[in-house]
Amino acid sequence: MNLRSSLTALALTLASPALALLLPNAAQLRKDTARYAPVELKADLHGFSKDDQIVLADLIEASRVMDGIFRIQAWGKNGATMDALVKDESPLGRARLHAFLINQGPWSLLDHNAPFLPGVGEKPAEANFYPPDSTKAEVQKWFEALTPAARKVATGFYTTIRRGSDGKLTAVPYSVQYQGALAQASALLKDAAAHTKNASLKKFLETRAAAFLSNDYLVSDVAWMEIDADIDPTIGPYEVYNDEWFNQKAAFESFITLRDAKETDKLAHLSSQLQDIENHLPIPDLMKNPKLGALAPIRVVNEIYAAGDANKGVQTAAFNLPNDERITDEKGTKRVMLRNVQEAKFKTVLMPISKLALSPADQKNVSFDAFFTHILMHELMHGLGPHNITVNGKPTTARAQLEASYSSIEEAKADISGLFAMQYLVDKGVLAKSLQKTMYTTYLASMFRSIRFGTAEAHGKGVAMQLNYFLDHGAVKVGAGGRLTVAQDKIAAVVRGLAQELLTLEGNGDAAGAKKLLDTMGVVRPQVKTILDKLSRVPVDIEPRFTTAHKLLADQGRLP
Ligand code: ZN
Repeated sequence: MNLRSSLTALALTLASPALALLLPNAAQLRKDTARYAPVELKADLHGFSKDDQIVLADLIEASRVMDGIFRIQAWGKNGATMDALVKDESPLGRARLHAFLINQGPWSLLDHNAPFLPGVGEKPAEANFYPPDSTKAEVQKWFEALTPAARKVATGFYTTIRRGSDGKLTAVPYSVQYQGALAQASALLKDAAAHTKNASLKKFLETRAAAFLSNDYLVSDVAWMEIDADIDPTIGPYEVYNDEWFNQKAAFESFITLRDAKETDKLAHLSSQLQDIENHLPIPDLMKNPKLGALAPIRVVNEIYAAGDANKGVQTAAFNLPNDERITDEKGTKRVMLRNVQEAKFKTVLMPISKLALSPADQKNVSFDAFFTHILMHELMHGLGPHNITVNGKPTTARAQLEASYSSIEEAKADISGLFAMQYLVDKGVLAKSLQKTMYTTYLASMFRSIRFGTAEAHGKGVAMQLNYFLDHGAVKVGAGGRLTVAQDKIAAVVRGLAQELLTLEGNGDAAGAKKLLDTMGVVRPQVKTILDKLSRVPVDIEPRFTTAHKLLADQGRLP
């Protein structure tokens, strides 16, 4: 946390000349942007044909179009603001442009959206999805007065709300609102479709190119679920978080990724073990699922380009799409894990954290293989354990029973039962014996990465609870200089005990027990706070440099 965030509230109440005085200068801005450590994001293009490389270059160019649309969606004045910044060659101008590009706008995402440019005011909660002179109440009232069919369009993912010449509100389809840019993106996707030999990829590219023009994304969202190709793009309007009024409007983004064949095989191997793991969970047989349902697809990929909503602030390391319930109700979602992004975060954030938080002997046991295997296991374990349960003779779900505690408990369950499952598979000879030494220590270091983002968030709270449980049960010990050590002889049994506790809370739908565990244990205690304070020097996240993408465009003479 820097000085500016605590001054934000004050700054916003002051008149603009005073506000300008509180804006960060070039040195402060450079310090702020340095919290994102620059990292090259590369991938091996060996074996990709000339045509494949044209497909990739088309997708990267189309992604740049997504950047432009997203900035306009985020704030109406972003285009003009960026044009002015590009022309300002002073040191302050350069520092401001760098911060602007990282945040995709003039507000610092790591500092509670504090403005870093003069005259921009507070970040608008409605972004640019609703008229700047409208209020949430006015738009809400208008929604309610519409016919059901018109309301469905107005509250849908793919329309903006604008004011007509008569001053009345009206819904404008994205295909009209962003017509020029989407026509450009559509043409690039069509060209990519013409150059690929993979039928599933071709189908996605053709249908998405059509969706950009028709505004009907359903068929292309289904085609995206079914991509089975070395080139695995995600491009279009997706997440709704930028619409802080109603969480309805989708922001444009893109992830251009390549399938990681080796990790995809490993994942298939782990998936084949799930029923056996379920059968051996440390809970009574009655709580176990004798026949697990089909697994939602998971892809392990390497990112070569990200744009728009996907390339701002803290970088996405995994995502779950689509959000359209017409598809998810029937087919579930597809989970995509960005392996090289995870690896970049591991090297630039997790390794420095381990040097400050762990004893020298433990630092040697931190490994990326253990880190990534646990991330995969965490995802898989969400599907295991009690979900549909019976309370007082009535069928219900763990989610409904645990209410506000559910997210924290379920995330902690996935973490801890993930470790339990790794131990089970090491003992069984399915996973490498070398993980025995590395998995717990690597996880201990990664816990600090989660708690660092705060215990107000579900995952951070659940991780703080786990760490205190480890400390209280002697599975983690505080050594010289307050650094932590894993008690290798105790940790497996303690993990098993906590897995049992969390799974049982869910199996019984025990809301009071879950709340009590989180209230008493989901806190940052002084010894953990001491370590967190030391971490202020460690980068918070990465700033990707897309070198493979850059080379692809350069090789084809397509750099802008
Ligand atoms: Zn999770």
